[in-house]
Amino acid sequence: MAVTGTRRADPASPRTANLAAILRALRAGPLSRTQLAARCGVGKSAVSGLLAELAERGLVRAAGVLPGNGRPSRLVELDGEGAYALALSIEADRLSAVVTDLAGHLLAEHAETVDVAALGLQRCLDELAHLAHRVLPGPPVGVAISVPGLVDSAAAVLRFAPALRWRDAEIAGLMAARLNLPVEAIAVDNEANLGALAESIEGAGSELFYLSGGTAVGGGLVSGGTILRGARGFAGEVGHIAVDPIGERCSCGRTGCLETKANLAAVLRAAAAPGDPLHDPALGVEGRVALLKDRIRRGDQRAVTAVHELGVALGVALSTVVDVLDPEVVVLGGYFAELGDWLVEPVRVELAARPLGHARVVPSELGLRAPLRGAAHLAAERLFANPALFEEASV
Ligand SMILES: [Zn+2]
Repeated sequence: MAVTGTRRADPASPRTANLAAILRALRAGPLSRTQLAARCGVGKSAVSGLLAELAERGLVRAAGVLPGNGRPSRLVELDGEGAYALALSIEADRLSAVVTDLAGHLLAEHAETVDVAALGLQRCLDELAHLAHRVLPGPPVGVAISVPGLVDSAAAVLRFAPALRWRDAEIAGLMAARLNLPVEAIAVDNEANLGALAESIEGAGSELFYLSGGTAVGGGLVSGGTILRGARGFAGEVGHIAVDPIGERCSCGRTGCLETKANLAAVLRAAAAPGDPLHDPALGVEGRVALLKDRIRRGDQRAVTAVHELGVALGVALSTVVDVLDPEVVVLGGYFAELGDWLVEPVRVELAARPLGHARVVPSELGLRAPLRGAAHLAAERLFANPALFEEASV
């Protein structure tokens, strides 16, 4: 099976749009022809023709019959065996690669600890391509790369990533050459946007704000199931909302930004004295956060206070976000998700003090994996938007 490279269907044609509608409808599970016709606004006989084409391409298959009275209806479901979505992520200290099928089931994954800033752009992408080849069973239908920085997603260019010290990195073009894929097969997006997308697709809500905590603090906004990007693609960047007028000086030059209080290193500094194992980078983000949780559970007062103050700072910033954007739900992502048991309450208290603070607050169910999950959904999206890109090989 292969990605069609030369015989490309016109993605704007009505037939392609109908094929895409059928395939998307099946993303949530098996359906009958009658259900598909109703959901996609296509006649039942047309549905049969579209399903025949999708079956020929290996994208759908029979899935038994719908139980119930009367005449049994036959069900169809997503197939797509051999249709691989490749998700890659670049973090300051880690490169990861994940392969899923069209339904989002994990097929393979691998990650490596590296100092990305020290490695530099070209060698980092060499290493990332190496990881991709290691996990991919065959050519992918689409690739999406999660990065910790400001992304012009239309141009697939990373404009600025302070943690990596990269500017104007043409990641899609550089990875296309390394993976031997057309550049349009590769999407690049900000990790908070992808976390928001993953939470939305996997059920947290269609109007949501996702707050991402890591070495920096970012945010992503989904409305009507779609990422809202703003004029330059930087919407949701909440790390520099002022939360403390007499606070620390921020890397942006101002004082008391949310990021100065909520980046992981700052919280760990508040939670433990210098030289404490809590600051050991060898433990990784997961290891340090696990240690912090352990201390809170054991009643370590300094750790308890640090995390409570983090919750208050998040609540102050989120009050502004909720007033402006009116999301249905606020998802605490990144390392904030791991601390959800102690962060949700102070955030709720801050929101409740505002007249319009009615959003629900939940920790991300996907935790630190949310951006990679979002990247896998975005990579598969290329095929959902144009099912004609994929066909079974004749051999
Ligand atoms: Zn700032």
